[in-house]
Amino acid sequence: MSGLNDDRYFDTDVETMSREQIEKLQEARILQLVPYVYQRSPLIRAVWEEAGVTPSDIRSLADFKARVPFIDKDTIRQYRDRHGDPFGGLACATAPHLRGVGFTSGTTGDPTPLPRADEHITLTALKRELWHIGVRSGDYFTYALFTFREGVNADKWLDSGFRPALIQHLPSEVPHLIEISRRLRPKALFMISTPLIMAIDQHQKITGTDLREAFSSYKGVVFGGEPMSPSLRILVESWGLEIFELSSLGDISTTMECRAHDGMHAWEDLALVEHLDPDGDQEVGDGARGELVVTALADDVAPLIRFRTDDLVSLTRAPCTCGRTHCRMKLLGRKSDEMIVQGRSVMPLDLFPLMQQFPETQAGLFQIVKAQRETEQLRLRVGYDASLLKGSENELSEHIARCLGTSLEIPVKVELLRSEELLKSGHKIPRVIKP
Ligand SMILES: [Zn+2]
Repeated sequence: MSGLNDDRYFDTDVETMSREQIEKLQEARILQLVPYVYQRSPLIRAVWEEAGVTPSDIRSLADFKARVPFIDKDTIRQYRDRHGDPFGGLACATAPHLRGVGFTSGTTGDPTPLPRADEHITLTALKRELWHIGVRSGDYFTYALFTFREGVNADKWLDSGFRPALIQHLPSEVPHLIEISRRLRPKALFMISTPLIMAIDQHQKITGTDLREAFSSYKGVVFGGEPMSPSLRILVESWGLEIFELSSLGDISTTMECRAHDGMHAWEDLALVEHLDPDGDQEVGDGARGELVVTALADDVAPLIRFRTDDLVSLTRAPCTCGRTHCRMKLLGRKSDEMIVQGRSVMPLDLFPLMQQFPETQAGLFQIVKAQRETEQLRLRVGYDASLLKGSENELSEHIARCLGTSLEIPVKVELLRSEELLKSGHKIPRVIKP
């Protein structure tokens, strides 16, 4: 934190720097990063050599954007498989700085290895976000961990004074979550997912817990992992919680909504964010649909350089009412999730609102079964609430298929499953699966 801090920000200087200052900082970091990575990362060196680019060609941010070749998940996996390198040729450091290897979620295929030092970049972003929600030094926040790799070490929180109250991100932890919320009066809940929300709702129905009272200390709850279905949003808001949606920034860091709820901010001191033609290399306009391409600016262990994330976003650098100057984006889906059914584009995001019209499927638990990108029929697996079923399962699946087919103007085939079946997959439901 800087000395002259505005109470609205964790780090005023960084969060509100002018666009010109952001670009100056990015250029300085890029010019340091380029020779560093080229010398150390065998993957980057191989990709650049193939493209005929050397560090001496890069003398500005503009040179970097014009000349540096892209990498993507396939580039990393192929390097890993060809060279037997678990780090996919990305590692720029050795032990003790290189502490392990993490994986991307791998919902659309083989998980991609990503070497990790510690979680300093994600933590830097998270402290800014928690502060924005309203956590201050000495306050607790509830930290529902997906794994025990993140944030357990209390030292990591010393500079902020925030006190994490740890629980595991499991439906069985709901009673513990409620107890912690009542006893410690945490200011933020980081984070909830579709399965956890459904478990909280279930717990409430069985025990009659007053969730508004139990959660009354929270100034915000972070939801992440996937887009939020409208009915879950209404449910969580009925507990008196303000929702902040969070998403990954190409596995470098995170992006999160601010109180304006008009797009998720990406921290551009930590990542160079580009927004390019999904089928090319040109920058697309503010607000247009483009592919998110990221470069890690504060990672000396295994920085991703011009990594094509496969995420389609609309992005703006227009000023935000929260006063932060870093870009904002809205997720539109993954490029590889798109299906063309009888010539029409279908993305998982298109289906969320359609699932709202049937009481049995309002939780928005569905999966697209994708054999290939272009097909003649949309195949879906849909989770339903068996307690709400009125007729037969067959009648419901035909009814859903008919209504969706009419809305989307394509043939739809629906396979019904009980919701519990789809929730077994953990904190995130793969929205597109192979048959
Ligand atoms: Zn904002």
